[in-house]
Amino acid sequence: MSELAPQSITYCGVCSWPPEYCEFGVTLKKCQAWLHENDQALYEKLYSADALANATSTLSLEKQEKLNEELAKKQHKEELKQERELQKKLSSKVVIKRIERNKRKHIISISGLEVFNLDSKKLAKTFASKFATGASVTKNAEKKDEILIQGDVSDEAKVYIEKLLEEQGLNEVKVEQIDDKAKKKKAAPVPGAPAN
Ligand SMILES: [Zn+2]
Repeated sequence: MSELAPQSITYCGVCSWPPEYCEFGVTLKKCQAWLHENDQALYEKLYSADALANATSTLSLEKQEKLNEELAKKQHKEELKQERELQKKLSSKVVIKRIERNKRKHIISISGLEVFNLDSKKLAKTFASKFATGASVTKNAEKKDEILIQGDVSDEAKVYIEKLLEEQGLNEVKVEQIDDKAKKKKAAPVPGAPAN
């Protein structure tokens, strides 16, 4: 670049601010590398030893290093948090219980969805229209949401929930189906006795 050329404003290719402002961002090192590559003169002006020694209004390298360290720590913490959440999801499961009300009537209860951030109310609505049946949300004994669906739709519900989990990249999560037969009376049922 000739010194006679009219001054044109350079914008940082990394953070998009004028390079004088790069130091206030979190990408200073990348910004510096970019500037070194793209505008050596400006790089020298901003970051040469002399420039840094003369700088009074700019953050010291030491300070910048500290900021970078803090940022790295934050990023690391966030990564750990995400990892923990993922592990929790992977070790959880959705349970679809098929409950026999009587010989011909079944209801399906689905629990364990909240870990996967699946909205039970929304899902109940979806199932109600998808299976043209009644579906509602109640709280189970553990005070967790549980979807109740009228009808024998355990397999269909499983397929649908697995699809939702897959969309989250959670293919390994188990959707367990349980068959809950009508509760036996305390006395053993007499063979051939009329039901109910
Ligand atoms: Zn920059």
